Amino acid sequence: MEIHVLCLILLTLAVVFGLIMGSFLNVCIFRIPRNESIVWPGSHCPRCGGIIGWYDNIPLVSYFLLKGRCRSCSGEISPRYPLVEVLTGLMFGVFFYSLVLKAGEPLSVYAAYCLLGCALLVSSFIDVELYVIPNEITYLGMVFGPVFSFIFPALHRPPGSYAAVDAMEVGRWDALASSLCGMLVAGGLVLVFVVLGQIALRREAMGMGDVKLMAMIGGIVGWKLSVMVFFIAPFFALLFSLQLLLRGQLEKGHKIPYAPFLSIAALVAIPLQGPLIRFLDSRIYIFSLLWS
Ligand SMILES: [Zn+2]
Repeated sequence: MEIHVLCLILLTLAVVFGLIMGSFLNVCIFRIPRNESIVWPGSHCPRCGGIIGWYDNIPLVSYFLLKGRCRSCSGEISPRYPLVEVLTGLMFGVFFYSLVLKAGEPLSVYAAYCLLGCALLVSSFIDVELYVIPNEITYLGMVFGPVFSFIFPALHRPPGSYAAVDAMEVGRWDALASSLCGMLVAGGLVLVFVVLGQIALRREAMGMGDVKLMAMIGGIVGWKLSVMVFFIAPFFALLFSLQLLLRGQLEKGHKIPYAPFLSIAALVAIPLQGPLIRFLDSRIYIFSLLWS
């Protein structure tokens, strides 16, 4: 079989798997903040409680077949459902293309980034709806990062080093140290801003939920990419505030959840980690010359 055809089939499988995963993430977004089990009972309409059969639970397809309405009560199904499914499918596809097909990363690394992406999507949609980032997700993520790094140290290999895998192999303890260092730097950066915000603005610009979310990101992506994520996120926040301002919807003291911007920044930075880390390395090099 032509290698391109095989790649295309694998890429399609990744997107389909992402769509199915997105369907599960929707369950998590609804149930985790309501302290309901995410595995039991099966899918039901939040309005009428009617059980949703498998044929009405096909990611994306069912939403359009049902024209966005519940089969039992005709109540509107939130457009969040297809949106989360599309975003997850897209994320699984883009990560597969950039990490596995282009950068030659092992599937373990791909899985780690996909799981992080899922945690970020769930946290963001919950933050948008309820202005809270569930500890269940961030604490689990902060444990997952170091443990996964120790088991699959390839996660902390410098990006683009797959050609010289043997020369660039990272030991388990080094990977664990990288993960912990990433958590400290990432969480620490946000913590500094939370404290400064409290002192300067006397109100919460970012909260402890954001600190934990960022620490979770740092435990997987390491300190260098975390620094880039931290500086990219405000651009997305600024863009969002600008369009609110232009539409006349930005009032003083307007509360804006920050998790979505950290998440978008991380999701954009992960497939672009090669160039982003090289950019940061060159800045560090210039500064080191200036100081020496
Ligand atoms: Zn219903």
